Amino acid sequence: MQDRYAETAFSNGYQFTSGSGYQLPEYAFVTPPEVSSGQVGHEQIVIVGAGITGLTLACALARLGVRAVVLDEDNTVGVKGASSRGICYTQKSLEIFDRLGIYPRIAAKGIQWSVGRTFAGKDEVYSFDLRQQSAYNLSSQPPFINIQQFYIEGYLVERIHELGDVELRWKNRVIGFEQDTDAATLTVTTPAGDYRLRADHVIDATGSRSPFHQWVGATLTGRKGDDRWCIADVRFPDRPPGERHTWIEAPFNENRAVWQHLMGDDVWRIDYQMAPDADPAYVSREDVVRERLARQFGPDMQVEIVWVGPYAYRSECIDRMRHGRVFFMGDAAKVVSPFGARGGNTGIADADNLAWKLAAVIRQQASPRLLDTFHDERHEAARQNVQVTHRTARFLRPADGMERTFRTAAISLARQHLFARSLINTGRMAVANTYTQSPACQTGGGQSVQNVRFAWADGSAGTVNDLLLWAQGNFLVLAFGDLAPAALKRLRTLTDHAPVRVVLVVDGQTPARAREHVRDPQGHLQGACHVFGHAWALVRPDSYVAATGESIDAGLVDALGAALGVTSEGASA
Ligand SMILES: Cc1cc2nc3c(=O)[nH]c(=O)nc-3n(C[C@H](O)[C@H](O)[C@H](O)COP(=O)(O)OP(=O)(O)OC[C@H]3O[C@@H](n4cnc5c(N)ncnc54)[C@H](O)[C@@H]3O)c2cc1C
Repeated sequence: MQDRYAETAFSNGYQFTSGSGYQLPEYAFVTPPEVSSGQVGHEQIVIVGAGITGLTLACALARLGVRAVVLDEDNTVGVKGASSRGICYTQKSLEIFDRLGIYPRIAAKGIQWSVGRTFAGKDEVYSFDLRQQSAYNLSSQPPFINIQQFYIEGYLVERIHELGDVELRWKNRVIGFEQDTDAATLTVTTPAGDYRLRADHVIDATGSRSPFHQWVGATLTGRKGDDRWCIADVRFPDRPPGERHTWIEAPFNENRAVWQHLMGDDVWRIDYQMAPDADPAYVSREDVVRERLARQFGPDMQVEIVWVGPYAYRSECIDRMRHGRVFFMGDAAKVVSPFGARGGNTGIADADNLAWKLAAVIRQQASPRLLDTFHDERHEAARQNVQVTHRTARFLRPADGMERTFRTAAISLARQHLFARSLINTGRMAVANTYTQSPACQTGGGQSVQNVRFAWADGSAGTVNDLLLWAQGNFLVLAFGDLAPAALKRLRTLTDHAPVRVVLVVDGQTPARAREHVRDPQGHLQGACHVFGHAWALVRPDSYVAATGESIDAGLVDALGAALGVTSEGASA
């Protein structure tokens, strides 16, 4: 029995080769109760995979006080013997981590950045400052933080232990799955023996080589290119500027692309695009990497190599994100090329999307039909992310003919004309995706709410996340403008027995009176909710607007019903 755990090991799917410059924590294996007792267990929620996606979901459930069991075949975070993989975390992810309670640790360890510059040879051909862009400009979190993925995963593990409710089982590999009308059954192998676990809901967060695809007969649409890169994680005594620099044509890399980012521990991630016919083992050899670094930074630059290795990527999206009792998320649902940092960030958003829905259904506050909107919302996001990153991949590795001609023309125009700079595509950075096809989002809904600041009634500063934490997994109705007493009474009656908390938002002039009255003197809260003047916004626990409206009437009740997966007649599925 015990050998099955060793025999069934399979790779994580990323093509890393050698080297290990990072020390990863190791978590203890504990014999599961089902192995000791010989009984089949039963859980409402089982999450398979403790990568960044599965751990985010687990932590979000723990924060909502919902029990879950997490099974991971490994006993650590990150990938043993490999580099960090993910490094760039977008504002929406940072806002989610703020709600989960690990943002201060990420901010302390990571590097904040907002400026990116792109070069062709020595010429700057494109630049941006994300702080100036409306998708990022209001939040309490910065547009991006660079930090090694395994740090975030480690912080999540520790936070899950602090919060309780969720059980993390290391060295528990799922090797079999079936489902029927009553439950799903997982077969799990461990160093102490095998066991079976029944579950109402199974979340597949096993990454890009998910065995669940085959087990449920999932179909995927995808493409594999021939673009390959070499990662060099390095430290310098003298720091280059803390901006994101990319080269479409780098003279020190035989005129191919290069990425340069600073992350935690003063480690620089430098990615070098390889020639299509290059030998990845040769390009990633330490002496060859050192030679290239000398060409880039000069022969006298002192460099410590932390990790070096090649990688390739593919682009793939599952056709349905729910198959019966199984929900697919993170890399198990879609794999994208790393340009724009859309892989891990969308896994984090997948997790945040499903967590409150599972909690609401388990607490019987929402219809089970709400769970179907996970597909409606996150599949739209997945498709969009695949499309956006694919365009970048094509720009960076154009096919001969039209694509290459277009790229050459775009670079040449961008050298001289501002208007052409937007044609340069070295990665469109990850943003919170908008939901346009979800039945849970009605008029005005589907957009993310930035974590902006406002003032509580006593004058102290608050943020949207504070409101969401105060609402404890319930919805928020934010009513903007001083409400007439009759409208206020109607609002209270309409929301009386619903899982919502009402917040009355007044401008700087009107005094705020009670805890649920807040002041928004600069209109940031209103702007973040995408409404103007006297209006209401129904905000979901994942900080997305479910709907907006002007008058306090039955429209608000309908919107809440839709957001909870209940039909307009009030009948749940
Ligand atoms: C070079 C590179 C750079 C990247 N940069 C970024 C970036 O800057 N920002 C970003 O957001 N993303 C980035 N990504 C993508 C990001 O790393 C992935 O999208 C992310 O790791 C996906 O997380 P996941 O939790 O879905 O899957 P994984 O991280 O693959 O985790 C899957 C987990 O499931 C476990 N598992 C697998 N099978 C089983 C089983 N049968 N039973 C039990 N457990 C199992 C594994 O042990 C693992 O812990 C990058 C990727 C690469 C390769």
